[in-house]
Amino acid sequence: MSKPRIFSGMRPTGRLHLGNLLGALDNWVKLQDDYDCVFAVVDWHALTTGYEDTSEIRKNIRDLVIDYLSAGIDPSRSLVIKQSDVKQHAELSLLLSMITPLSWLERCPTYKEQLRELEGREIMTHGFLGYPVLMAADILVYKAQFVPVGEDQLPHIELAREIARRFNFLYEPVFPEPKERLNEVVLLPGTDGRKMSKSYRNIIEMSASPDEVESIVANMVTDPKRIRRRDPGDPDVCSVYAFHKVFSKLGLDDIHEGCKSAGIGCVECKRKLARALNGYLEPIRDRRAAIERDPGIIHDVLEEGARKARVIAEATLEDVRQAMRI
Ligand code: SF4
Repeated sequence: MSKPRIFSGMRPTGRLHLGNLLGALDNWVKLQDDYDCVFAVVDWHALTTGYEDTSEIRKNIRDLVIDYLSAGIDPSRSLVIKQSDVKQHAELSLLLSMITPLSWLERCPTYKEQLRELEGREIMTHGFLGYPVLMAADILVYKAQFVPVGEDQLPHIELAREIARRFNFLYEPVFPEPKERLNEVVLLPGTDGRKMSKSYRNIIEMSASPDEVESIVANMVTDPKRIRRRDPGDPDVCSVYAFHKVFSKLGLDDIHEGCKSAGIGCVECKRKLARALNGYLEPIRDRRAAIERDPGIIHDVLEEGARKARVIAEATLEDVRQAMRI
């Protein structure tokens, strides 16, 4: 029996960080066992808010593929594609845009939120408003049944379902209604205790070297009330401890107690964290090193992924064109 299909993708906007790894990629890696997965680098989506300066996009695509593969996405089991290599995404997006009421797009909470966040930038474009239609096309072109997402993406999946339902009602039942598969929530703050985000410059990149990890961890924000070594601390307000909870499952109670009783100092606590983090990143670094020794692999993976993806996507488009009688 064939496995249910999953589609997910990320925009190539720069190197991924530990939040992306724990919040999405680690989850994708596990899904490969039970699902037929398509993982995309959605480069057209990167243009919706970044169309003015495309100077870095090719490098970012390459970096994202390396991040996917080094995290453990296995191209012998999953399709790894670049969205713009599979033109059927664009054709389906165009056709779906014909049946999607504008009001559905205008009420999309992520649209309103991004308009606020990117205020002052020229993003009132057709492409930006229509971004959820392209996203629906990305999913529906593979007739994916599930989409692994975080809570913030739920409105997009709901919209993809509504578009699929409308198509099926107007023409013929071509599309399954995709369902969300929520990523496990991993509470990892940024190195300063705020949300981990590139714009706050509080991230640790997946590709950080052991020395970089040590230096970033050494500068992490701790309990601000613990000023001297002999002061007891409160690990529950410390970003270093929040990282320990994710990466140092063994010895966690000792760190908690040691902090509260001033039994360990912040320097030692941070050293332990850097060791744990570097241990966690080691297999990822090994895979990255193998790719860097043989960089042609990136081209080969994308070419093979696109070749197989086009076959699936074209079969869907044949159903769609027939249903619409065009
Ligand atoms: Fe944070 Fe560790 Fe220092 Fe406690 S000992 S304040 S948990 S860095």
